Amino acid sequence: MKINPDKCVACGNCIYVCPVGAIYVDPTLKRATIDRNECVECYACYYGLSTEHLNPGFVRTVRKLLQFGRVRFDPEPDICPTAAFEPDHLEWPRVVRRAFSDPRATHESTGVQGRGTEEVKTNDVTKRVRQGEVGFTIEFGRPGVGVWFRDIEKMTQALAEAKIPFEKKNPLTLLMSDVATGKLKQDILGEKVLSAIVEIKVTVDRTEEILRLVREVEKQIDTVIALGVSTRCDENGEEHVVAPILERFGYRIQRAKTNTGLGRITNPEEEVRFQVEAATM
Ligand code: SF4
Ligand code: SF4
Repeated sequence: MKINPDKCVACGNCIYVCPVGAIYVDPTLKRATIDRNECVECYACYYGLSTEHLNPGFVRTVRKLLQFGRVRFDPEPDICPTAAFEPDHLEWPRVVRRAFSDPRATHESTGVQGRGTEEVKTNDVTKRVRQGEVGFTIEFGRPGVGVWFRDIEKMTQALAEAKIPFEKKNPLTLLMSDVATGKLKQDILGEKVLSAIVEIKVTVDRTEEILRLVREVEKQIDTVIALGVSTRCDENGEEHVVAPILERFGYRIQRAKTNTGLGRITNPEEEVRFQVEAATM
């Protein structure tokens, strides 16, 4: 993203829209400026502000004249009065910033769409997490902080070393140069995004191991990390295996979502398995 210095009138409205604080008014230039290193290409500034097409020279003159009378002219707070934002044409590897930061973006060029897979929320139809298994989402970054791929790689390498398989369709897995070692493509390590999610699945007996590993590695990563856990309930809708482990680790359990199994199965392999199981019951 760029701000056209010929158009910007330094009203400062855009500063508060940026979720990672990448916009500042340069005191020398007297124009709003984007710190390209910090900008995650989320387009919140471009889409989040209404635009007017006032003449920049006219606005600056009016503001100066009013200043003489100690009156301050500011546009409405949700407006860029001169439509000064101009999206860059994003090339690889910078384009991954937008893919992970702007929910409106689709990027066929990178194979990445969104931050994680949809299946994590629809296990009743995908049946990705089976009985006796636990799914984990490890989410890095949030508005206000963001995350660098070089930091995410610390986690993916540690998981790979412990021989934990990654979800194949996850966008981060697609960006690995070597899934066996958890190494991400070298040229994206210096890219920053708003957030990204690693998705893994293990058998229940490895739950504690994953919790310990994530806790250990997150100490080396300078961002917020949120851990999501999904598992199957028993026939009474209860879960007494994974929940006690989480509680032992000090997590307060709150069910984020309970899938009821009323949907149509979308995972063809699982559909076959489900039918075989039903036929043998
Ligand atoms: S809102 Fe527009 S005119 Fe105001 S500081 Fe930002 S880019 Fe410049
Ligand atoms: S694209 Fe997003 S991160 Fe970049 S300057 Fe605009 S709001 Fe900030």
